[in-house]
Amino acid sequence: MTDNDAMRHDVIVIGAGLAGLYMLHKLRQTGRRAIVIEAGSDVGGTWYWNRYPGARCDVESLDYQYTFSDALQREWTWSERFARQDEILAYINHVADRFDLRRDIVFDTRVTRARFVEAAAEWEVEADDGSRHVAPFLIAATGALSLPQTPPLPGIEDFKGDVYHTGRWPHDGVDFTARRVAVVGTGSSGIQAIPNIAAQAERLYVFQRTPNFSLPARNAPLTEQQVEERRRNFADIARSNKASPSGLYRPPSDVATRSALDVPAEQRAADYEKWWDRGGTLLMRTYTDLLINADSNRTATEFAQRKIRDMVERPDVADKLTPHYHIGTKRICLDSGYYETFNRPNVTLVDVNEDPISTITGDAIVTAGRTCQVDAIVFATGYDAMTGPLLAMDITGRGGRTMREAWSDGPRTYLGLSIAGFPNLFVVAGPGSPSVLANVILSIEQHVDWIADCLDHMRDRGFETIEASPDAQDAWVEHVNEVAQATLYPRTKSWYSGSNIAGKPEIFMPYVGGLGRYTAHCADVARDGYAGFVLS
Ligand code: NAP
Repeated sequence: MTDNDAMRHDVIVIGAGLAGLYMLHKLRQTGRRAIVIEAGSDVGGTWYWNRYPGARCDVESLDYQYTFSDALQREWTWSERFARQDEILAYINHVADRFDLRRDIVFDTRVTRARFVEAAAEWEVEADDGSRHVAPFLIAATGALSLPQTPPLPGIEDFKGDVYHTGRWPHDGVDFTARRVAVVGTGSSGIQAIPNIAAQAERLYVFQRTPNFSLPARNAPLTEQQVEERRRNFADIARSNKASPSGLYRPPSDVATRSALDVPAEQRAADYEKWWDRGGTLLMRTYTDLLINADSNRTATEFAQRKIRDMVERPDVADKLTPHYHIGTKRICLDSGYYETFNRPNVTLVDVNEDPISTITGDAIVTAGRTCQVDAIVFATGYDAMTGPLLAMDITGRGGRTMREAWSDGPRTYLGLSIAGFPNLFVVAGPGSPSVLANVILSIEQHVDWIADCLDHMRDRGFETIEASPDAQDAWVEHVNEVAQATLYPRTKSWYSGSNIAGKPEIFMPYVGGLGRYTAHCADVARDGYAGFVLS
């Protein structure tokens, strides 16, 4: 590519989701001309694509919002404890309009290639519409869960009915009334969609590979008092959320202070019951050590297993729906009536471990034991998470080395922000940072602010390039791994470690050390003159 016909910018940002929008706003505030290239037809990222029935956030609305603008939080009113996808998308559109962001975003355009040109110290970017862009800095705000995966089931190409993926849902919705439907996959998306589809469809078959723990959301409208109280204390709560491990609010009186094993069994049962009744993911924070001590975790796991047996009428179905891994080590799901859905006469659970799918015909999913006639198949089969969206682009760094080569044994980053050999490329909430293990909006804000400060530092001191040193990167990768190994997370196969994708190297990708600790470390790195980075 020559850059004769390329458009020049100070910074190129890929993606107009929550990360790309705030990045654009911040770049403008610091006097930079940026362009955002977005594959979708509008802003929103994951909230633009995920329009399946029942799609909601599993973080409470009052926590799941930007904190960078006090005016923004004052003028936006969330209606429910857990916002629906359309309300979150409306919020994101409001942000785009309020800060006049759309004029620097090109939509319906997918970045296909990015190459660092060493002689010019700049990135050349190509998109699928043939456009070319050049800038000294490239920022991947491509999201952790944006590359859907559909399993290559034999015969799927012969199926004559409709095929959907939860992560690419039609914009005008889908009416399942009087239709026979299959849902494949029982992660967060499937668990939210299944009760809604079951309520419409004539017949629903749920194909489950691994049962999941789901906690009752107990969603409800927010009261005026709740909204006003958060508004009044917004800055203080945001500050304390950012310093906390999860980035989520919990009043001091509700913060766990002891191990599950330091509490008599009766008291423990009462504690779990209380948090189960309060809803959301709070149960996982009943005690301090549920994700690090297997014996402590077992008490919560057994509690949740008993709850499933209480909710599901048929014991054989309850058995199939009961997970046997440490609760919380796969992303915990939130639901509204998921387990009870299997008590409905129109719903059938198919455990594909016992009864594997052998083929798909024109009008049926055929397993070893049955033929399920269906008019539609919904894949709720998840994503090639964290690395997938980056590796889907052809990214080449110094010396012609591609990111696919650099990450052939799994992702290697410094702080989840930067990759050795790929100067002036930043990843927002990438592998090796807290990202999806914390309130992701706060993870995003912290990265965006850090990147903007770093660019200012470079401008003020006349540096052209910044990149992670290989030694600092090796040490960070080792640290991320060490911290993960000290928890129960790696004991369970999940998309956190890439084990949902055949052939993907298994490495626990997010940083489990907590948002507050990570933020303090990134601040120290900057204060020490960007220790671990090479600036030139
Ligand atoms: P997911 O958690 O990866 O779940 C995918 C499901 O599909 C799993 O049950 C998986 O089984 C199954 N599956 C994959 N391939 C299969 C095959 N060949 N045959 C049968 N089953 C197969 O994906 P997701 O539900 O889309 O959720 C991804 C993440 O997005 C969540 O963990 C969460 O972080 C986020 N999310 C959040 C919300 C929310 O805020 N409420 C909603 C949706 C998604 P295995 O477990 O055996 O791999």
